[in-house]
Amino acid sequence: MTDTSPAFKVAECACRKLSITLQNEPEIVSSCNCTDCQRRTGSVFGVAAYFAKTNIVAQTGDSKVFERKADSDGTVSMHFCPECGTTVYWRLSMYREYVGVAVGCFGDAGFPAPERTVWANRKHHWVTFPPSVRVYPEAP
Ligand SMILES: [Zn+2]
Ligand SMILES: [Zn+2]
Repeated sequence: MTDTSPAFKVAECACRKLSITLQNEPEIVSSCNCTDCQRRTGSVFGVAAYFAKTNIVAQTGDSKVFERKADSDGTVSMHFCPECGTTVYWRLSMYREYVGVAVGCFGDAGFPAPERTVWANRKHHWVTFPPSVRVYPEAP
């Protein structure tokens, strides 16, 4: 058997100055339709890959941090590039062992699909997910 997946996964901002490099597979890939994610991405839903922090291999570039209250208690600290504004990764005060990474920043159309979508009660009416995706009306 041949493993064709690259050893490392690199997520970069639009200007490529802010990046995070990870190894191994994400613990979970999740999409979120909440209005905070809509505003953060400028798109109609966000897709996040959560990796164990022990899988962070490298980080480059300066980031600014936008902190907001999470759906649950606690805060989300979004790290975005001060040059181009792209959010590349974030940390949740409730899940300190994990880092959330914006899946679009990998630029990899073969990246694993989300296993679930949350805040479906805020989902744009035309968005449909494949049957393999578990749908939660709010946060699970
Ligand atoms: Zn940038
Ligand atoms: Zn969200």
